[in-house]
Amino acid sequence: CGIVGVLGDHEAAPLLVEALKRLEYRGYDSAGIATVHKGKLDRRRAVGKLVNLSDLLVHEPLAGKSGIGHTRWATHGAATVTNAHPHRAGGVAVVHNGIIENFRDLRAELATDGYAQESETDTETVALLARRELDRGATPVEAARATLKRLHGAFALCFLFDGEEDLMIAARKGSPLAIGHGTGEMFVGSDAIALAPMTDRITYLEEGDWAVITRAGAQIFDAADRLANRAETRIQIDA
Ligand code: GLU
Repeated sequence: CGIVGVLGDHEAAPLLVEALKRLEYRGYDSAGIATVHKGKLDRRRAVGKLVNLSDLLVHEPLAGKSGIGHTRWATHGAATVTNAHPHRAGGVAVVHNGIIENFRDLRAELATDGYAQESETDTETVALLARRELDRGATPVEAARATLKRLHGAFALCFLFDGEEDLMIAARKGSPLAIGHGTGEMFVGSDAIALAPMTDRITYLEEGDWAVITRAGAQIFDAADRLANRAETRIQIDA
C-alpha cells in the first residue's frame, strides 16, 4: 500500500524504513525492503508492523545505498512473508501498489514457459515477466518497459535490479507516485510526505508515465514511450 525507493549517498535500509513509517497511515499488513549491495540484490520481509521488519534488520542487516521498500495491503494472497513485497525473480525485485487485473492469464503464460510463482500475489507475476525479458537478453530498462506493456489494472511499481546500483524504474497507472530529487540522490514515494525527510523537490508522475531513475536524475516517459517533461515542484511538509 506504500512504495518507497532510494538511490542514495547513505545506507538505504534506515531511510526506507523511515519513509515507510511515514506511509503507515495508509494501513498495511506486512512490509519489506530490498537493496543492491556490491552488485547483489537481497531482501528482508516481515508480517505485521514495521517494528517487526526493523527487528529483523537488526539481526539480519541489509547493506547498500540503493533500495526499494513496501508496506502491503494484501489484495491477492494472505498476509504472509512469502506474499510480502519486494517480490523477486532472478535479478529483479519489484514493489507494487494496486492490482494487476490480468495476472492470472500472465501467470499461466509464464508457467508454460517454466516461470513458476512462489507466492499467490499478482505482483510476483510482474517480477517474473521482467525476469523472462532479462533471460531473453533485454537490458533492465527494456525488460521493465516490455513488462509494463503487458499489465492491465491500476498500479504503482518500482523495479530494482541485480548488478545495478544506480538504477530504479518506476511506473504509475491509476496509483499515485512521486519522484524526489536530492543532490546526487534520487527517491521514489507513494506520496511526497514519505520523502519529506529526504527532499522537498518533487516530480509527480502522470497517468501512464514510467521513469528511468539514476542518481543523476529521472528520465520520464509517457504511456507512448515519448520523453515527457514533468515539472519539478517544491512541497512544504514538516519533515
Ligand atoms: N496486489 C498486491 C498484493 O496483494 C499489492 C497490494 C498493495 O497495494 O499493497 O500483494
